[in-house]
Order: sequence, then structure tokens, then C-alpha cells
Amino acid sequence: MLTHNLGYPRIGGQRQLKKACEQYWAAAIDGPSLHEVARRIKNNNWQTQLDAGMDLIPCNDFSLYDHILDHSVLLGVIPKRYDAVSAIKGKTETDRYFAMARGYQQDGLDITAMEMTKWLDTNYHYIVPEFTAGQTFSISSDKLFDEFKEARQLLGDKAKPVLPGPVSYLLLGKEKEHGFSRIDLLSRLIPVYVEIIGRLQDQGATWIQLDEPCLCLDLDPQVKAAFAEAYRVLAASVKGVKLLVATYFEALSDNAAVAMNLPVAALHIDLVRGPEQLDELLPLVPDHLELSLGLVDGRNVWKNDHARSLMMIQQAVQALGACRVLIAPSCSLLHSPIDLESETTLDPEIKNWMAFAKQKLQEVAALKQITEGSGSSLLQANQSAMQSRLLSAKVHVQEVKDRVAAVSEAYISRKSVFQTRQQLHRARFQLPLFPTTTIGSFPQTDDVRRLRAQLKKGALTHQQYETAVEEATVDAIRWQEEIGLDVLVHGEFERNDMVEYFGEQLKGFLFTQHGWVQSYGSRCVKPPVIYGDVQRAGDMTVRWSRFAASQTRKWVKGMLTGPVTILQWSFVRDDQPREVTTNQIALAIRDEVAALENAGIGMIQIDEAAIREGLPLRRSKRAQYLDWAVKAFRIASAGVDDHTQIHTHMCYSAFNEIIEHLAAMDADVITIETSRSQMELLQAFSNFRYPNEIGPGVYDIHSPRVPTTTEIVALLKKAAALLPVENIWVNPDCGLKTRKWPETKSALINMVAAARQAREEI
Ligand code: GLN
Ligand code: ZN
Repeated sequence: MLTHNLGYPRIGGQRQLKKACEQYWAAAIDGPSLHEVARRIKNNNWQTQLDAGMDLIPCNDFSLYDHILDHSVLLGVIPKRYDAVSAIKGKTETDRYFAMARGYQQDGLDITAMEMTKWLDTNYHYIVPEFTAGQTFSISSDKLFDEFKEARQLLGDKAKPVLPGPVSYLLLGKEKEHGFSRIDLLSRLIPVYVEIIGRLQDQGATWIQLDEPCLCLDLDPQVKAAFAEAYRVLAASVKGVKLLVATYFEALSDNAAVAMNLPVAALHIDLVRGPEQLDELLPLVPDHLELSLGLVDGRNVWKNDHARSLMMIQQAVQALGACRVLIAPSCSLLHSPIDLESETTLDPEIKNWMAFAKQKLQEVAALKQITEGSGSSLLQANQSAMQSRLLSAKVHVQEVKDRVAAVSEAYISRKSVFQTRQQLHRARFQLPLFPTTTIGSFPQTDDVRRLRAQLKKGALTHQQYETAVEEATVDAIRWQEEIGLDVLVHGEFERNDMVEYFGEQLKGFLFTQHGWVQSYGSRCVKPPVIYGDVQRAGDMTVRWSRFAASQTRKWVKGMLTGPVTILQWSFVRDDQPREVTTNQIALAIRDEVAALENAGIGMIQIDEAAIREGLPLRRSKRAQYLDWAVKAFRIASAGVDDHTQIHTHMCYSAFNEIIEHLAAMDADVITIETSRSQMELLQAFSNFRYPNEIGPGVYDIHSPRVPTTTEIVALLKKAAALLPVENIWVNPDCGLKTRKWPETKSALINMVAAARQAREEI
């Protein structure tokens, strides 16, 4: 029985890669220095995996920015517009590579970056391959081969090159021209895979991993057929090397037959996301196939329950024989923090329940040892950790469980229907047509960030910090009044991040010192960890909302983050369903909503930026998810009186699929991102006759560009053609924290002018 790993985090234990890349972009270090940092990280990673006792260790999982981009470069899928970068004297392949990732605005060039999108249901973002009708493929980079050579020096035969599989690579890309389907490019692509694999074999490769996560998605029959055909051709041409096809993030379900009949040496399945599939798959495994069991969760921070994993191992060994079973983490460890040992401030009891990437490898090795009969103490230690977590009072709070269990229909419905509430709101708030507002945050300037850093260091007292944040808030209020916004916000100057701010104040959350995970390129996030039943310890936002409201006679919206978004952007418990954890958070938010209402805050916004990204990969699971996600929002929001106006905000645009669920949330006002689609997505709201009020974003906050009044009026006219005029709000696409003040001010002044003009003209 072999142990192996599918991929390892590449940012470095101290985020060295981030720092080196950013220095390189700022021209503070040169190419060789950047590559030296990369070399050290790779070798460290390999050594760690070797020390952990892995039999097969990935290489080419490292990337300076993104491994899918690396693959595009390897295959020569490089859009023409980047030729201009290569043409500049002194520019290297690395410079062109970063130009593809980040765009190039220098030397008189203005070249856009390639599109970036979420990697399946993770918070990792990859660079989307761009295909043309005449797309050709040819080996165009040595990175893969160099890295394999380097890996072999340290790892010998244990080095296992990893590549995106041909079918998933095409599926996860995009056609940039009409008149062809990217899947039809397979016949041109496979010969290049044959060539690549041949070269790796010449270099000594014995195993090669091809990642085909798309085998876990809903697939059309012709795509299923394409899988079979692609691998038939591939297998016919490569001999003597073992191909391992890796699937993850879901069960194979209806693609099981396709996956298991691929003529490859081994298939990896995710038994964390799809534990039930083992029973179904084992009887179907063909004689030629070895099965790799993805046992240790690569997407979370908890220890593996060895007793459970051992049962699955035994079941597989019984069916296939030990020599046809491999064991591994469920997916690449790219999605895990790196090393639990660098955490020095965690509660030791809780730390004993956790495992980061390095520890997960040790767990895989332990599972093998225990299976082979020499790891009884490892098993004992593991089971006592499981037991301690199961019984700990730090996790389990009966009062919270009871409250979740008691949530009833009445609890999740507003007292009156929207139309009644709307009348009350009109009378209470006295807003003009096309009321103007913003989404919540104002620029987080260096000055504001510095305040928090100084507070942390002890260079500011709590009192001094609060006074400084109050000043920033007062300035923002004064300024919003001056330019004539109708509904004000306090600006969120006291918040580091819209999830962390709440996590820090809720019981059941913890924060790591170094638990960074790559989000894209040099950007990393450090998600909070939800370890126990969630409880609100006291007011979280009331102080700031009340303060802001006291500074003005206008209405100031209270500002909260919604339960699904808090869940989605945290590491969550794996000992209860996500739904239950979400409902616990929802109840805590509900109490905060009530506290705001009691403090006289008439409008309360609950941001659910992440509802859509929580959508399950499989269509068949979506309705159920959306049901509980909507219910959680209603738990959070429905406790208020009719005269209180509930807002929500979502920053994305593809709503068609979820429009009825948005309506079921029953927020009085929803603000959404629409400016980049020129209001087109309002069509979905219009077709659905979405009843409640909507603020379609009228300008893009992702760029510093200031929209003109004329442009905004034109967008409002489009909106007015699709929605009842009296339901339309006027606001930017999203919060303004990443912007600078000058452009923010100019843009909002134009926005207010546009609303005034619209009141006259529409
Ligand atoms: N209220 C938050 C802000 O304005 C919302 C941000 C978001 O949805 N991403 O920053
Ligand atoms: Zn947003």
C-alpha cells in the first residue's frame, strides 16, 4: 500500500513567495533572486513530504502564480496580446508570465490580464485558459521538466509530476471566439500530452498524476464520451509509466463508470466529500485499476478520524488487495494552512484536534503504519483527541443547540408581507425617488490601517484608538451629508475584515497566527476557524452604529455580515452539518439585529456576499443548499418589527439560477453588482417580477475610474425600464474600502447628481 500526496502549499511557511513576487513586481529584486526563493520553497516542501514518509511526492504543483497558468504556458496557450511584452528588450519569460496573470501597464503598453475565476468550489482562483478556433498546442516551457529534474535529485523515484488532465484543462477554460467548442480541441491536445509524458518518462518518471476534477461535475454525454476517447488515445501511446487520474471535491456519482474504465493505472477518489462512494465503487473497480483513497481532508483544519479511515482502508484492501490500494489526502493540500506547529497561542486542548498540511501527511503515514500493524500508539493518541473533541465543553453548548432546534416557521417570517412593510417604510423614512446610498465601507486608508496596527502593538491605548476611529467616522458622516446622500453609512473604519470582525467577537471562533491559504497569486487569506457552538457574547456593532447615528439627522444603516458569508469564509466544523453551524451564526446575528433595532437603528444591512459561492458543484444538491442558506438569512433578519428596513448586499452578477431564492430571503432592499453588465442582469429580476426594492450598482468599484453623471443616468433609465421606479435605489456596485478618497468623492458626487437628474427625467 503506497502513501502519496496530491499537492502541497507553495506560499512558504512565512509567505516567502508572496513577499518575493511583490518585490519582483516592484523591481526590488531580480529574476534569479525570485527563482532562488522558489527553489528553496520547493525543496523545503519536498523534504517535508519525504520526512513525513510519503511514497510518492508531487512536483510541478509549485507555481509562481497559478498552476493552471503554468499549464497554459507549457502548452503554448498564450494569447497574442502578450507578444508585445516579450518584444521589449530585457523582458523574460517570467515577465510575460506575470503579464498574463496581472496585465501589463508600462512601457506605453496597456494589456489586460487574463480572466481569473474560482477553482471549483474553493476560494482559490485560477487563470482561465483562453482558446481560439485555430488553437494549437506545443511544448513551450521547460518549467515542468526542470522541476521534475530538481525533484528527482532529492526524491529519486518518489518524485511524481502533477499536471492538469487534458479534459478538465479544456473544460475549465473559455472559447475566445465563436464557432467552435473547446472540447473539440482534444484531438489536437492529446498528442502534446503524449509528447510531454514521453519526455517525463525519458527523465525517469514512473508515476504521473493527471488532475481531472471535472469528473466530479455534472457532465453532458458528449463530455463523458470525450473523457473515454481522450484517455483511450493517450493510453495507447504511452507505455511503461503509471498514470494516476485524480478526482476531488465531490463523489463521482454518475461519472463513476467513465472514470473507472479509463485505461489508466490508478484513480484517486475523494472520500471526504463523497464517503458513501466507496461502497458503490469497490465492486466496479476493473482488474487493471488501483484505487487511491482520499481520506484526510485537504480542505479543512481538523484531525482525521483514524478509526473511520481505517475502516475504509480495510474495506478497500479486502476488495482489491493491499497492493492495489493507495492512501492520500482528499485533494491537493494547496487549500490547507501549512504547519500547525508554528501556532504558539492556540488553546492546547483545541490545537490537539487540528492538523495543517504537514500534519495531514503525517496522518496519511500513520494510517499506513496502523494498517500494517505497527501504529497502535498512533491510533490511541488519535482516538483520544477525537474523544476529547466530542465531549469538550469548549465545543458543546446545550443552550445553543436547543435554540437552533427550536427555530420555527414563525421565527423566520416577518410579521407582515413586504407591501405592508413598504408603506410603513415610506412613511417613516421619507426618502425621495431613487434614494442614494453606499454599500458600507469607505476607503481603508493607510492611516486607518495604521491605527489598528498601533493598537495591536500597544502604541495606542484603546481610548486613543476609539477616538481616532470616531474622528474618521464623523468626517465620513459630515462628508456624506454635504454631498447629499440620502441614506448614510458609518464607513466600517473599525473593521479589519467583514468576517474577521465578527469572528473575533463571537464565541466558538478562533484565529491562527500563520494559517494562511493562497487565494490567488500573491494574495493569501487567513480564515477564522469555527470550532464550537457559536454564541454572541455581547453587542458587536451597536456602539459604532449608534455613534454614527448620533452625528446626523439622516438615517444611518446598521452593517452586519450574514451567516452564510461568515460560514463560507471560515474553516468550519466537520462534526456537524454546515447547516447547523450556519443557523447558530444566524441566531447570533439575529440578536445583534435586535440590539441595533433597540438602539433606534431603522435600517439594517446584512451582507451575504458569499451565498452564491457556497453553491454545491452538483446541481442535484443546490436546491437543498439554497433552502437552508435562505432560511439562515431569515433567521438572522426576520426578528425585527415591520417598520425596520432590512437590506442585504451581494457582490456578483449571475442571479438567474437563484432568483427565486433571493426573493425568498425577503429583504426589503437588495443591493447588487450590475454596472459591468450594463444592467443586463436586471432582466432576471424583471422576468421574475421581483417584488422588493433593489439597488442595482451604478458603477464599478474595482477600478479608480470616476463614472460620469450622464453614464449613471443612462443606467438608471435602463433599470427603470425593467423595474418599478419606486423600487429602485442608487448605489455603487460594492463597498469602497479598496478605493482612495479622491475618486470615491468624485464618483459619489456624480452618482448623487445622476439620481437628482433621474428624479426629474424618469
Ligand atoms: N458592507 C461591506 C462593504 O461595504 C460589503 C462588502 C462585500 O459584500 N464584499 O465593504
Ligand atoms: Zn459587495
